[in-house]
Amino acid sequence: MNYTTNSLAEIWSNVLLRIENEIQDNNIFSTFFANTKVHTVDGDTIIISVPGKFVCEVLNSKYLNTINEKINAVTESNFRCRIVEESLLKNNHNNDLSTITETPFKSTFFSTNLNPIYTFDNFIVGPSNRECHSASLAAAMDPGNFFNPLFIHGKTGLGKTHLLNAIGNYIKVKNPRNIRVLFISANDFVESFVRSAKFHDNGIEVFKDEFKNIDVLLIDDIQFLANKDKSSELFFHLFNYLINNRKQIVLTSDRPPHELKGLEERLVSRFVSGLSVGIDSPEFETALAILHKRLELQGIDKNSIEEEVLHYIAQSFSNDVRQLEGALNRILFFSVTFNSPNKKIDMKMALTAFKNSGISQKEELTVDKIKRTVASYYNISVEALTSKIRTSYITTARHIAMYLCRNLLNISLTEIGRNFSNRDHSTVISSCNKVDKLLKTDETYRKAVEELKKSLKN
Ligand code: ADP
Ligand code: MG
Repeated sequence: MNYTTNSLAEIWSNVLLRIENEIQDNNIFSTFFANTKVHTVDGDTIIISVPGKFVCEVLNSKYLNTINEKINAVTESNFRCRIVEESLLKNNHNNDLSTITETPFKSTFFSTNLNPIYTFDNFIVGPSNRECHSASLAAAMDPGNFFNPLFIHGKTGLGKTHLLNAIGNYIKVKNPRNIRVLFISANDFVESFVRSAKFHDNGIEVFKDEFKNIDVLLIDDIQFLANKDKSSELFFHLFNYLINNRKQIVLTSDRPPHELKGLEERLVSRFVSGLSVGIDSPEFETALAILHKRLELQGIDKNSIEEEVLHYIAQSFSNDVRQLEGALNRILFFSVTFNSPNKKIDMKMALTAFKNSGISQKEELTVDKIKRTVASYYNISVEALTSKIRTSYITTARHIAMYLCRNLLNISLTEIGRNFSNRDHSTVISSCNKVDKLLKTDETYRKAVEELKKSLKN
């Protein structure tokens, strides 16, 4: 069917009317749709001209399906719509649309997608993430030359996405113009790939070319590539291409490479060909430092909250930094909402705020928990542990239990003694000194105490 300029304009205004009705948000409609028009019809493709790059990106990435749907409803035929920037159409005097390479998915690649708030400056380093942090910084300082690929793995909420963005932001600051960085989640990678294949005849080729131009590829949550065979296949080729051209790749995953199920062996073995580093839950001190940093970044006076409250949060929520931050936000929110202004946040308020909060708190660390954990580690009963029995095996366990109470709990020596068959405080001191000495000289002993400490923190 031939369409006149008038009938095209009419079709488009009809389409817009339907879209406006569906979106029901004047701001969105007037920003993104108001100045759009039909440029031409080319076979079964309708070319829509839009005023600027940004509008073009948004329409392509968010509204392409809606537009296609409405056009087909209005025309009762099967059109595909192509959205192109007005300036590109104007400069294209021969009307040869094949020379226009603007595509619906290109925009994803040319923006870096980086989140500027995640930097190395506001990442707190401690034993749990030191290795990961230094590997990330090395990759950022000299992309493509250290640890390529760098594979970061760890449970959720431990800072993987933060580090990945920090690498990208660092590189962009050092090389503002001449280096192309792309941050993309594996999910978005799959989605862009599917979209490119669907809407463009040579979409996959364009998609590949875009990736081949990247200098630094930061890909988040690679586990989501599992069982996506076609996307994995393409990723494998792009991955090899980039690595062979000494382009930096950094990947994150919620599990170590060998536990990635549903991904081809050859891909997994490529992942570990560089450096694979794990990130753990923060230790108490790291968790505390993260809380202090959060307060500083939010401009909150540290005197408005008792240090004891921060200790309590660091102790109770350090399995996951996201939860740790959530707990701090909860107490700050609680204090603003229910507290008289200027009252310092104290433990009483903290306990009220967390009661029924639904945030999964770790079991509180108590003398009883320490006794149970140590007894079960040494395969003895709690009664034997606290008794007066002096078998060397049991004595060793008892000394360690007292030592852990002294180091992990904020209670007096007298109270510790009372919990171990009423021993006096000097016995507790001498037991702790023995442990201290052995920690310095006996590696197996040190490992046992470390393991116990770790399991008590979980
Ligand atoms: P993941 O990607 O591992 O699930 P994120 O990177 O999204 O975790 O981190 C969750 C939150 O915790 C983010 O707000 C992040 O800034 C913060 N965070 C994690 N680790 C640290 C750290 N070491 N220092 C400061 N903030 C951190
Ligand atoms: Mg993440």
